[in-house]
Amino acid sequence: MSRPRIVVTERYSPRAMERLAAVGDVTLLDRRDETTLLAAVADADALVVRTHTTVNRRVIEAGKRLRVIARGGVGLDNIDLAAARERGIPVVYTPAASTHAVADFTIGLVLALQRRIAWFDREIRTGDFAALRSRDPGCPELRHQMLGIIGMGRIGSQVARRASMGFGMQIMYNDIRPVGPFPFPAVSATRDQVLASADVVSLHVPLTPLTRGMIDREALARMKHDAYLINTSRGPVVVANDLAAALREGRIAGAAIDVFDPEPPPQDHPLRAAPNCLLTPHVASRSREGLAAMNDVVEDVVAVLEGRPPAWPWIDESY
Ligand code: NAD
Repeated sequence: MSRPRIVVTERYSPRAMERLAAVGDVTLLDRRDETTLLAAVADADALVVRTHTTVNRRVIEAGKRLRVIARGGVGLDNIDLAAARERGIPVVYTPAASTHAVADFTIGLVLALQRRIAWFDREIRTGDFAALRSRDPGCPELRHQMLGIIGMGRIGSQVARRASMGFGMQIMYNDIRPVGPFPFPAVSATRDQVLASADVVSLHVPLTPLTRGMIDREALARMKHDAYLINTSRGPVVVANDLAAALREGRIAGAAIDVFDPEPPPQDHPLRAAPNCLLTPHVASRSREGLAAMNDVVEDVVAVLEGRPPAWPWIDESY
Protein backbone atom coordinates (compact mmCIF):
# COMPACT_ATOMS: atom_id res chain seq x y z
CA MET A 1 0.00 0.00 0.00
CA SER A 2 1.38 3.45 -0.87
CA ARG A 3 2.24 5.87 1.90
CA PRO A 4 -0.39 8.52 2.66
CA ARG A 5 0.23 11.98 1.20
CA ILE A 6 0.06 14.78 3.75
CA VAL A 7 -0.20 18.42 2.65
CA VAL A 8 0.84 21.03 5.24
CA THR A 9 0.14 24.71 4.51
CA GLU A 10 1.45 26.57 7.58
CA ARG A 11 4.33 26.27 10.03
CA TYR A 12 4.48 23.43 12.53
CA SER A 13 7.37 22.51 14.80
CA PRO A 14 10.19 20.34 13.39
CA ARG A 15 9.06 17.59 15.77
CA ALA A 16 5.49 17.72 14.49
CA MET A 17 6.75 17.62 10.89
CA GLU A 18 8.92 14.60 11.75
CA ARG A 19 5.93 12.85 13.29
CA LEU A 20 3.97 13.33 10.04
CA ALA A 21 6.95 12.29 7.90
CA ALA A 22 7.15 9.04 9.88
CA VAL A 23 3.73 7.98 8.59
CA GLY A 24 3.46 9.63 5.17
CA ASP A 25 4.99 11.73 2.40
CA VAL A 26 4.75 15.34 3.51
CA THR A 27 4.49 18.32 1.18
CA LEU A 28 4.95 21.73 2.82
CA LEU A 29 3.36 24.41 0.64
CA ASP A 30 4.99 27.82 0.42
CA ARG A 31 1.75 29.40 -0.89
CA ARG A 32 -1.81 28.88 0.25
CA ASP A 33 -3.91 30.56 -2.44
CA GLU A 34 -6.85 28.55 -3.76
CA THR A 35 -5.18 27.47 -7.02
CA THR A 36 -2.20 26.08 -5.13
CA LEU A 37 -4.46 24.33 -2.63
CA LEU A 38 -6.69 22.81 -5.33
CA ALA A 39 -3.67 21.28 -7.04
CA ALA A 40 -2.10 20.11 -3.78
CA VAL A 41 -5.15 18.37 -2.32
CA ALA A 42 -5.98 16.45 -5.50
CA ASP A 43 -4.09 13.35 -4.34
CA ALA A 44 -3.73 14.18 -0.63
CA ASP A 45 -4.91 11.96 2.22
CA ALA A 46 -4.50 14.66 4.88
CA LEU A 47 -4.61 18.46 4.80
CA VAL A 48 -2.98 20.21 7.77
CA VAL A 49 -3.55 23.96 8.18
CA ARG A 50 -3.61 26.64 10.84
CA THR A 51 -5.30 30.05 10.96
CA HIS A 52 -4.57 31.56 7.59
CA THR A 53 -5.51 28.87 5.07
CA THR A 54 -9.03 28.98 3.65
CA VAL A 55 -10.32 25.44 3.23
CA ASN A 56 -13.48 26.14 1.27
CA ARG A 57 -15.94 23.75 -0.36
CA ARG A 58 -14.03 23.75 -3.68
CA VAL A 59 -10.83 22.69 -1.91
CA ILE A 60 -12.64 19.98 0.06
CA GLU A 61 -14.38 18.66 -3.06
CA ALA A 62 -11.08 18.62 -4.98
CA GLY A 63 -9.57 16.41 -2.27
CA LYS A 64 -11.03 13.18 -3.63
CA ARG A 65 -8.84 11.07 -1.32
CA LEU A 66 -8.93 13.35 1.71
CA ARG A 67 -9.36 11.38 4.94
CA VAL A 68 -8.71 14.12 7.49
CA ILE A 69 -8.47 17.92 7.71
CA ALA A 70 -6.48 19.23 10.67
CA ARG A 71 -6.24 22.71 12.13
CA GLY A 72 -3.78 23.36 14.96
CA GLY A 73 -5.57 25.81 17.24
CA VAL A 74 -9.19 26.73 17.85
CA GLY A 75 -11.66 28.64 15.68
CA LEU A 76 -12.67 26.61 12.65
CA ASP A 77 -14.14 29.49 10.65
CA ASN A 78 -11.48 29.03 7.93
CA ILE A 79 -12.80 25.54 7.16
CA ASP A 80 -16.12 24.80 5.42
CA LEU A 81 -17.33 22.41 8.09
CA ALA A 82 -20.59 21.62 6.26
CA ALA A 83 -18.66 20.55 3.16
CA ALA A 84 -16.34 18.38 5.26
CA ARG A 85 -19.30 16.79 7.04
CA GLU A 86 -21.07 16.07 3.75
CA ARG A 87 -17.98 14.27 2.48
CA GLY A 88 -17.60 12.44 5.81
CA ILE A 89 -14.12 13.88 6.35
CA PRO A 90 -13.30 14.38 10.05
CA VAL A 91 -11.94 17.78 11.05
CA VAL A 92 -9.52 17.63 13.98
CA TYR A 93 -8.18 20.56 16.00
CA THR A 94 -6.75 21.51 19.41
CA PRO A 95 -9.63 23.31 21.12
CA ALA A 96 -7.93 23.72 24.50
CA ALA A 97 -4.44 24.68 23.27
CA SER A 98 -4.81 28.45 23.50
CA THR A 99 -7.42 28.85 26.23
CA HIS A 100 -5.06 30.06 28.96
CA ALA A 101 -2.87 32.10 26.62
CA VAL A 102 -5.86 34.07 25.29
CA ALA A 103 -7.33 34.46 28.79
CA ASP A 104 -4.03 35.83 30.15
CA PHE A 105 -3.67 38.18 27.20
CA THR A 106 -7.24 39.46 27.58
CA ILE A 107 -6.59 40.33 31.23
CA GLY A 108 -3.50 42.19 30.03
CA LEU A 109 -5.70 44.16 27.66
CA VAL A 110 -8.20 45.00 30.42
CA LEU A 111 -5.38 46.45 32.50
CA ALA A 112 -3.70 48.16 29.55
CA LEU A 113 -6.95 49.88 28.58
CA GLN A 114 -8.05 50.89 32.06
CA ARG A 115 -4.61 52.12 33.11
CA ARG A 116 -3.68 53.49 29.65
CA ILE A 117 -0.37 51.64 29.76
CA ALA A 118 0.36 51.69 26.02
CA TRP A 119 -0.59 55.37 25.78
CA PHE A 120 1.73 56.32 28.66
CA ASP A 121 4.54 54.33 27.10
CA ARG A 122 4.12 56.22 23.81
CA GLU A 123 3.77 59.66 25.41
CA ILE A 124 6.64 59.44 27.88
CA ARG A 125 9.16 59.14 25.07
CA THR A 126 8.55 62.69 23.87
CA GLY A 127 6.29 64.18 26.52
CA ASP A 128 6.84 65.89 29.86
CA PHE A 129 6.96 63.42 32.75
CA ALA A 130 5.28 65.62 35.37
CA ALA A 131 2.70 66.98 32.93
CA LEU A 132 1.75 63.47 31.93
CA ARG A 133 1.18 62.51 35.55
CA SER A 134 -0.91 65.54 36.29
CA ARG A 135 -3.00 65.07 33.13
CA ASP A 136 -3.96 61.56 34.26
CA PRO A 137 -7.42 61.85 35.81
CA GLY A 138 -7.14 58.39 37.40
CA CYS A 139 -9.53 55.56 36.86
CA PRO A 140 -11.80 53.32 38.91
CA GLU A 141 -10.16 50.21 40.32
CA LEU A 142 -11.02 46.88 38.72
CA ARG A 143 -12.71 45.63 41.90
CA HIS A 144 -15.38 48.27 41.24
CA GLN A 145 -15.82 47.35 37.59
CA MET A 146 -18.06 44.94 35.71
CA LEU A 147 -16.61 42.68 33.03
CA GLY A 148 -19.11 41.63 30.36
CA ILE A 149 -18.28 38.43 28.52
CA ILE A 150 -20.01 37.52 25.26
CA GLY A 151 -19.31 33.81 24.64
CA MET A 152 -18.71 32.14 27.99
CA GLY A 153 -16.97 29.02 26.65
CA ARG A 154 -13.43 27.83 27.34
CA ILE A 155 -11.72 31.21 26.90
CA GLY A 156 -14.56 33.45 28.11
CA SER A 157 -14.94 31.53 31.37
CA GLN A 158 -11.19 31.56 32.01
CA VAL A 159 -11.10 35.33 31.47
CA ALA A 160 -14.02 35.67 33.88
CA ARG A 161 -12.31 33.41 36.42
CA ARG A 162 -9.15 35.52 36.40
CA ALA A 163 -11.11 38.78 36.52
CA SER A 164 -13.39 37.66 39.34
CA MET A 165 -11.10 35.57 41.50
CA GLY A 166 -7.94 37.59 40.83
CA PHE A 167 -9.21 41.17 40.61
CA GLY A 168 -12.63 41.06 42.25
CA MET A 169 -14.45 42.25 39.12
CA GLN A 170 -18.14 41.54 38.80
CA ILE A 171 -19.02 39.24 35.91
CA MET A 172 -22.02 39.39 33.58
CA TYR A 173 -22.13 37.12 30.57
CA ASN A 174 -24.16 36.12 27.55
CA ASP A 175 -24.08 32.78 25.77
CA ILE A 176 -26.48 31.06 23.42
CA ARG A 177 -26.28 27.72 25.22
CA PRO A 178 -26.50 26.85 28.90
CA VAL A 179 -23.07 27.20 30.52
CA GLY A 180 -21.80 27.02 34.10
CA PRO A 181 -22.01 26.72 37.03
CA PHE A 182 -18.80 28.60 37.66
CA PRO A 183 -16.63 28.70 40.79
CA PHE A 184 -17.14 32.50 41.02
CA PRO A 185 -20.19 34.78 40.97
CA ALA A 186 -21.40 35.40 37.43
CA VAL A 187 -24.74 36.69 36.18
CA SER A 188 -26.26 35.36 32.96
CA ALA A 189 -27.96 38.07 30.89
CA THR A 190 -29.05 39.00 27.39
CA ARG A 191 -26.47 40.42 25.02
CA ASP A 192 -28.08 43.85 25.24
CA GLN A 193 -27.93 43.76 29.04
CA VAL A 194 -24.24 42.85 28.95
CA LEU A 195 -23.52 45.65 26.48
CA ALA A 196 -25.43 48.18 28.55
CA SER A 197 -24.03 47.20 31.96
CA ALA A 198 -20.37 46.29 31.51
CA ASP A 199 -17.40 48.60 32.00
CA VAL A 200 -15.39 46.28 29.79
CA VAL A 201 -17.04 44.08 27.15
CA SER A 202 -14.89 41.17 25.99
CA LEU A 203 -15.81 39.02 22.98
CA HIS A 204 -15.09 35.28 23.05
CA VAL A 205 -17.52 33.87 20.48
CA PRO A 206 -16.61 31.79 17.43
CA LEU A 207 -17.15 33.39 14.02
CA THR A 208 -20.51 32.05 12.79
CA PRO A 209 -23.35 33.49 10.70
CA LEU A 210 -24.89 34.67 14.02
CA THR A 211 -21.78 36.42 15.33
CA ARG A 212 -20.54 37.99 12.06
CA GLY A 213 -21.11 41.72 12.46
CA MET A 214 -22.58 41.21 15.95
CA ILE A 215 -20.89 44.33 17.29
CA ASP A 216 -22.20 47.00 14.94
CA ARG A 217 -23.29 50.60 15.33
CA GLU A 218 -26.44 49.60 17.20
CA ALA A 219 -24.60 47.30 19.63
CA LEU A 220 -21.92 49.95 20.26
CA ALA A 221 -24.65 52.51 20.95
CA ARG A 222 -25.85 50.34 23.84
CA MET A 223 -22.47 50.48 25.58
CA LYS A 224 -21.69 53.01 28.30
CA HIS A 225 -19.72 56.07 27.18
CA ASP A 226 -16.85 55.18 29.52
CA ALA A 227 -16.80 51.48 28.60
CA TYR A 228 -14.13 49.57 26.68
CA LEU A 229 -14.46 46.83 24.05
CA ILE A 230 -11.99 43.95 23.69
CA ASN A 231 -11.98 41.66 20.67
CA THR A 232 -9.68 38.63 20.72
CA SER A 233 -12.26 36.41 18.95
CA ARG A 234 -12.36 37.00 15.19
CA GLY A 235 -12.15 40.24 13.21
CA PRO A 236 -15.51 40.02 11.40
CA VAL A 237 -17.43 39.80 14.72
CA VAL A 238 -16.95 43.60 14.95
CA VAL A 239 -17.93 46.00 12.16
CA ALA A 240 -14.63 47.87 11.99
CA ASN A 241 -16.05 51.03 10.40
CA ASP A 242 -18.72 51.28 13.11
CA LEU A 243 -16.18 50.80 15.90
CA ALA A 244 -13.82 53.38 14.37
CA ALA A 245 -16.70 55.87 14.21
CA ALA A 246 -17.70 55.19 17.83
CA LEU A 247 -14.10 55.76 18.95
CA ARG A 248 -13.69 58.94 16.88
CA GLU A 249 -16.93 60.35 18.25
CA GLY A 250 -16.05 59.35 21.83
CA ARG A 251 -19.15 57.17 22.11
CA ILE A 252 -17.10 54.56 23.99
CA ALA A 253 -13.85 55.08 25.91
CA GLY A 254 -11.61 52.77 23.93
CA ALA A 255 -10.99 49.35 22.45
CA ALA A 256 -8.36 46.66 22.22
CA ILE A 257 -8.31 44.60 19.04
CA ASP A 258 -6.21 41.48 18.39
CA VAL A 259 -8.06 40.18 15.33
CA PHE A 260 -8.90 41.88 12.05
CA ASP A 261 -10.93 41.55 8.89
CA PRO A 262 -8.96 40.90 6.76
CA GLU A 263 -5.66 39.75 8.23
CA PRO A 264 -3.24 41.34 7.93
CA PRO A 265 -5.22 44.60 8.03
CA PRO A 266 -4.40 46.89 5.07
CA GLN A 267 -2.73 50.24 5.74
CA ASP A 268 -6.09 52.02 5.35
CA HIS A 269 -7.95 49.67 7.73
CA PRO A 270 -10.27 51.98 9.73
CA LEU A 271 -9.00 50.81 13.12
CA ARG A 272 -5.37 51.72 12.36
CA ALA A 273 -6.27 55.40 12.60
CA ALA A 274 -8.95 55.18 15.30
CA PRO A 275 -8.19 56.96 18.58
CA ASN A 276 -7.98 55.11 21.93
CA CYS A 277 -7.58 51.84 20.12
CA LEU A 278 -4.92 49.38 21.21
CA LEU A 279 -3.94 47.05 18.36
CA THR A 280 -2.05 43.75 18.46
CA PRO A 281 -1.30 41.42 15.52
CA HIS A 282 -3.39 38.31 16.37
CA VAL A 283 -1.00 37.18 19.09
CA ALA A 284 -3.33 36.44 22.00
CA SER A 285 -2.79 32.69 21.63
CA ARG A 286 0.98 32.83 21.29
CA SER A 287 2.17 31.51 24.64
CA ARG A 288 5.01 28.99 24.57
CA GLU A 289 2.69 26.30 25.93
CA GLY A 290 -0.15 27.26 23.59
CA LEU A 291 2.03 27.12 20.49
CA ALA A 292 3.46 23.77 21.58
CA ALA A 293 0.01 22.32 22.20
CA MET A 294 -1.20 23.34 18.71
CA ASN A 295 1.40 20.97 17.27
CA ASP A 296 -0.35 18.08 19.00
CA VAL A 297 -2.93 18.12 16.22
CA VAL A 298 -0.53 15.95 14.21
CA GLU A 299 -1.24 13.09 16.65
CA ASP A 300 -4.85 13.14 15.50
CA VAL A 301 -3.77 13.21 11.85
CA VAL A 302 -1.66 10.11 12.48
CA ALA A 303 -4.55 8.50 14.37
CA VAL A 304 -7.00 8.95 11.49
CA LEU A 305 -4.47 7.82 8.88
CA GLU A 306 -3.81 4.70 10.96
CA GLY A 307 -7.52 4.01 11.36
CA ARG A 308 -7.77 5.00 15.03
CA PRO A 309 -10.34 7.48 16.41
CA PRO A 310 -8.94 11.00 16.89
CA ALA A 311 -8.82 12.54 20.38
CA TRP A 312 -10.20 15.93 19.30
CA PRO A 313 -12.62 15.67 16.38
CA TRP A 314 -14.81 18.68 15.70
CA ILE A 315 -18.33 17.84 16.81
CA ASP A 316 -21.15 19.77 15.18
CA GLU A 317 -22.65 21.98 17.87
CA SER A 318 -24.87 23.74 15.32
CA TYR A 319 -24.58 27.28 16.65
P1 NAD B 1 -15.73 27.80 22.90
O1 NAD B 1 -16.48 27.07 21.85
O2 NAD B 1 -15.28 27.07 24.12
O3 NAD B 1 -16.59 29.07 23.41
C1 NAD B 1 -17.33 29.87 22.56
C2 NAD B 1 -18.63 30.20 23.30
O4 NAD B 1 -19.37 31.14 22.51
C3 NAD B 1 -19.55 28.97 23.48
O5 NAD B 1 -19.91 28.84 24.84
C4 NAD B 1 -20.74 29.26 22.58
O6 NAD B 1 -21.95 28.72 23.06
C5 NAD B 1 -20.74 30.78 22.58
N1 NAD B 1 -21.45 31.37 21.45
C6 NAD B 1 -21.51 30.94 20.17
N2 NAD B 1 -22.27 31.76 19.45
C7 NAD B 1 -22.72 32.72 20.29
C8 NAD B 1 -23.57 33.84 20.12
N3 NAD B 1 -24.12 34.13 18.94
N4 NAD B 1 -23.83 34.62 21.20
C9 NAD B 1 -23.31 34.31 22.42
N5 NAD B 1 -22.48 33.25 22.63
C10 NAD B 1 -22.22 32.47 21.57
O7 NAD B 1 -14.50 28.48 22.16
P2 NAD B 1 -13.18 29.10 22.83
O8 NAD B 1 -12.12 28.06 22.90
O9 NAD B 1 -13.55 29.83 24.06
O10 NAD B 1 -12.73 30.12 21.69
C11 NAD B 1 -13.58 31.19 21.31
C12 NAD B 1 -13.07 31.85 20.05
O11 NAD B 1 -11.87 32.57 20.34
C13 NAD B 1 -12.63 30.88 18.95
O12 NAD B 1 -13.71 30.40 18.19
C14 NAD B 1 -11.69 31.73 18.13
O13 NAD B 1 -12.40 32.39 17.11
C15 NAD B 1 -11.16 32.75 19.13
N6 NAD B 1 -9.71 32.57 19.38
C16 NAD B 1 -8.86 33.61 19.16
C17 NAD B 1 -7.49 33.45 19.41
C18 NAD B 1 -6.50 34.59 19.22
O14 NAD B 1 -5.31 34.33 19.11
N7 NAD B 1 -6.93 35.83 19.21
C19 NAD B 1 -7.00 32.22 19.87
C20 NAD B 1 -7.91 31.20 20.13
C21 NAD B 1 -9.27 31.38 19.88
